[in-house]
Amino acid sequence: MLELHCHTTFSDGSLTPQQLVNRAVAKGVKALAITDHDTISGWEEARSAAAPHGLEIVPGIELSTTYNGRSMHILGFYPDPHKLEAPLQERINGRHRRAQKMVEKLGELGYPIELPPMSGNMAPGRPHVAKAMHAAGYVTSVQEAFQRFLGDHGPAYVPYEKFTAQEGIDLLKSCGAVPVWAHPYLFHGGVVEEVLPELVKDGLMGVEVYHPQHSSSEERVLEELCEKYGLVMTGGSDYHGPQSKPKASDVDLNGLNLSLGLLDRVKQAATDLKRKG
Ligand code: AMP
Ligand code: ZN
Ligand code: FE
Ligand code: FE
Repeated sequence: MLELHCHTTFSDGSLTPQQLVNRAVAKGVKALAITDHDTISGWEEARSAAAPHGLEIVPGIELSTTYNGRSMHILGFYPDPHKLEAPLQERINGRHRRAQKMVEKLGELGYPIELPPMSGNMAPGRPHVAKAMHAAGYVTSVQEAFQRFLGDHGPAYVPYEKFTAQEGIDLLKSCGAVPVWAHPYLFHGGVVEEVLPELVKDGLMGVEVYHPQHSSSEERVLEELCEKYGLVMTGGSDYHGPQSKPKASDVDLNGLNLSLGLLDRVKQAATDLKRKG
């Protein structure tokens, strides 16, 4: 019923917002968050596409930040788009610069590629680079491009431009958005039980408990931690579109079968934040 983590062609998803909405409707989703990496450009098309079907679009984003020097993703729900626009453009510009740096590194390694043209409101990421390598015939799959070149220790890897989790949380809250730590068990810079209390001190309000790459025992731990720290719980399939070579953990839209009731506390938290101003 509920999907709170999805990507479109405005970042590294393979479906347009219109196509994503069509698929969500077909799969029985009742409320769908659009959470592209560092861009909110997909909302408008998603809303127009969803309206005739009575599908609720939850405005969202997945911010790329760093914590302990490693990549950390922070979801934000219900940001005020006007307040977010200018600071976000700087993040998107940083993603364009970073993609170009990866292209330069690959060129120096003997693998020249060209990225597809991307407009200034789209957020390029490593999957775009990986797909270009595949298209050029250097690798047999996107997965191989990550394994050999683009993974966190790969020779063509370039980290995000500096933007700390604290800065991300502050930005989201200043725009009225509920900051939620995305897929905590995919974080490589520390232990969940130790990092989470620090993030709570920094103003974090929620945790993405339900994610295809979390085991059920990890989800139980996160549920308990949310209880302990009074945090909002979210979840979603982190859907990037149909995959030619799906990972074992990949799930389709609505694959986690989450209850719509989870959304109530997210909405309440967003309302409380805006009331506090
Ligand atoms: P970026 O934010 O540009 O560093 O790219 C991160 C995105 O790349 C993630 O959100 C995933 O969608 C994708 N990704 C990360 N690791 C892999 C991998 N090993 N194989 C395929 N896609 C990956
Ligand atoms: Zn992604
Ligand atoms: Fe993520
Ligand atoms: Fe994601």
